[in-house]
Amino acid sequence: MSWLSNIPPGIKNIFKPKDDNSDGLWTKCPGCGEMIFQRDLDAAHQVCPSCDHHLAIGPAERLALLFDNGEFEDIDLPEPVTDPLKFRDEKKYVDRLKENRRKTGQQDAMRAAHGTVDGVNVVAMVQNFRFMGGSMGMGLGEAMLKAAETAVEKRAPLIVFAASGGARMQEGILSLMQMPRTTIAVQMVKEAGLPYIVVLTNPTTGGVTASYAMLGDVNIAEPGALICFAGPRVIEQTIREKLPEGFQRSEFLLEKGMVDMVVRRADMKTTLSKLIRVLVKERRQGAATPAVATASPAAPAKIAKLPKPKTQAQKEAPKLDKAAE
Ligand SMILES: [Zn+2]
Repeated sequence: MSWLSNIPPGIKNIFKPKDDNSDGLWTKCPGCGEMIFQRDLDAAHQVCPSCDHHLAIGPAERLALLFDNGEFEDIDLPEPVTDPLKFRDEKKYVDRLKENRRKTGQQDAMRAAHGTVDGVNVVAMVQNFRFMGGSMGMGLGEAMLKAAETAVEKRAPLIVFAASGGARMQEGILSLMQMPRTTIAVQMVKEAGLPYIVVLTNPTTGGVTASYAMLGDVNIAEPGALICFAGPRVIEQTIREKLPEGFQRSEFLLEKGMVDMVVRRADMKTTLSKLIRVLVKERRQGAATPAVATASPAAPAKIAKLPKPKTQAQKEAPKLDKAAE
């Protein structure tokens, strides 16, 4: 124990470790190592002003950034059966849940809301990495289904901001069953002729990448996000080879055609709004592969390929509450 451990908490908060960037006065940027004044970081929506590193952002702030005037309505999510396997590792699963609910104020890792984006009705979901690593369990499956139903009911596009360590091991096989369940939820939205857009944020991994997070009509990624099924360390240990620079990061995946666009947080709303309008119009007209303009010169975004609308989608032209022009 050094004398450093006796510093009062008020002073300790000034030098918080980099992973806990919530309420200290200064935050060390994981990208460039510079100390950033928390107020500047908040003003830039958790993007480093020096190196443009995108730090984690909470669901409330994410939703406020997306919806017009920062106004949205939370969707009531059904509560699944709690801990059917009576799972226990170092702690009981029920205790872990309680702790995370207290910490985040959420019932589970996914939050869903609806509101308008540039006047168009939209349903959006945000995965909270602080809630057990954004892990996919039964709660998340229920949330996905509920949000998809709401989107269909409101004739609104569905946007998911993914961030996850993968399936929730405390729910065993039941968590893996959420992969087909969430896929069905996505299919429901697509069959109704409504756009489904995924925004992959740091990190999106495991079973989430293997299900709903890769099924978007357009898959967008935030800069520098880790997006993978198995992590780089696991792969290196398995194949016993050094992986290339930037492997499994957004820009690498854009180059390899795994994601369609890399969009900065500052340009996210404009880009999503444009995409929604293009996709809705496309499905109405049944036109194929329209070009989408980049959000701004600062955001070199590109679209590799937009999926052609399905025959059923062509038949049922979506009617959004406000016409998209
Ligand atoms: Zn930085």
